[in-house]
Amino acid sequence: MKHHDVIIIGAGAAGLMCAATAGYRGRDVLVLDAAKQAGKKILISGGGRCNFTNQKVEPNNFICGNGHFVKSALARYRSSDFIDLVERHGIEYHERDHGQLFCNDSAKEIVTMLLTECEWAGAKVKLRTEIGKITQADSGKFEIATDKDVYSCDSLVVATGGLSMPKLGASPLGYHLAEQFGLKVLPTYAGLVPFTWQPEQKLKFEPLSGIAVPSTITAKDGTQFSEALLFTHRGLSGPAILQISNFWKPGETIKINLLPGIDARAAIELVLANHPKQNLRNTLGHWLPKRLVEALFDEALLNRAMNQLVHKELEQLAVDLESWEIMMNGTEGYRTAEVTLGGLDTDELSSKTMETKSVPGLFFIGEVMDVSGWLGGFNFQWAWSSGVAAGQAV
Ligand code: FAD
Repeated sequence: MKHHDVIIIGAGAAGLMCAATAGYRGRDVLVLDAAKQAGKKILISGGGRCNFTNQKVEPNNFICGNGHFVKSALARYRSSDFIDLVERHGIEYHERDHGQLFCNDSAKEIVTMLLTECEWAGAKVKLRTEIGKITQADSGKFEIATDKDVYSCDSLVVATGGLSMPKLGASPLGYHLAEQFGLKVLPTYAGLVPFTWQPEQKLKFEPLSGIAVPSTITAKDGTQFSEALLFTHRGLSGPAILQISNFWKPGETIKINLLPGIDARAAIELVLANHPKQNLRNTLGHWLPKRLVEALFDEALLNRAMNQLVHKELEQLAVDLESWEIMMNGTEGYRTAEVTLGGLDTDELSSKTMETKSVPGLFFIGEVMDVSGWLGGFNFQWAWSSGVAAGQAV
């Protein structure tokens, strides 16, 4: 049996960050992963440019059963610390809307940087390794059987991520391990994920595929995001929808304001005063794409002049434009979700070290736990911050 101080399962964002941090502290670290390549999700993230963090990271950018849990790790390893690391490796980057930071060239640079850090820190990464049974001996040491060797370690770090994108190697191993050690796992849901049409909506809205409009979307709990809304063949997507999907529960409607920043009632009154004979189709055509207008409103209504619409109809028009309430069928699920909501209950963990309270030496980091970030680089920042927190403690 080969012994290491620390074994980390998962060579993704959190696992590699933790490995380098622990390695620099002189710990003998081995990272095990079933995949052929380290950091597969990093490679495809941000459209291949990896939105690696955000200029402004606040605890309220995260969804977690315990709102205070993320504070300590985020304060001790900030987005500015990761930006310093990126700059030390000479990686060029740029800022997009809402403080999102992306590589100028390729997400590969982030994976290369993390593997280089592991190498400099003396942490070894072993890929193509299937994990078998994991047990804890009376001595407190963990034993990990794999398809190659059996290993033992003093500290075991679970960094297996969430369930999204099984094609990239996502698996429930982390949740199973948590349960095996008697830890509570909260139900999981697909997050940052597009919505799908109900069958009758599909007939009506599928032809709009490709149309994008500015919007403000509100979830049942009042959470609101103002970003682009995209119509797709399958349903609704775009940043506004991905963000709101983190706050949506099956069976709930969402409210879409198609005229964000415009007071619909006042705008309608203005047209009525200045262009009373203009038909509704042309009025709406100034604000929204024609195909969307035709899908949303009745043909006969669209052909009427503004001054032929009665007060009640004008009122309803403003409501339809400002708070279109729609019940979607569901989400595209883990197949396309960027994150997994839920997971290991953070009450089981120390927020300073990510060590479980009931099993000394057992740590969980990254997405496997009940911490999910908004769209915008927050999920990687959680992987970096929680990885460093554990790396300093193992
Ligand atoms: P992961 O990075 O998923 O790593 C988990 C590792 O564990 C993997 O290497 C996997 O192979 C390994 N593993 C899993 N099961 C087993 C097993 N049974 N045996 C052995 N090894 C196993 N976040 C952002 O902040 N910015 C973005 O731009 C962004 N874009 C994204 C785009 C897409 C398409 C997706 C799917 C996600 C994106 N995310 C983004 C989210 C981000 O990738 C994750 O939150 C982050 O990678 C989580 O890090 P992690 O280390 O916890 O898990």
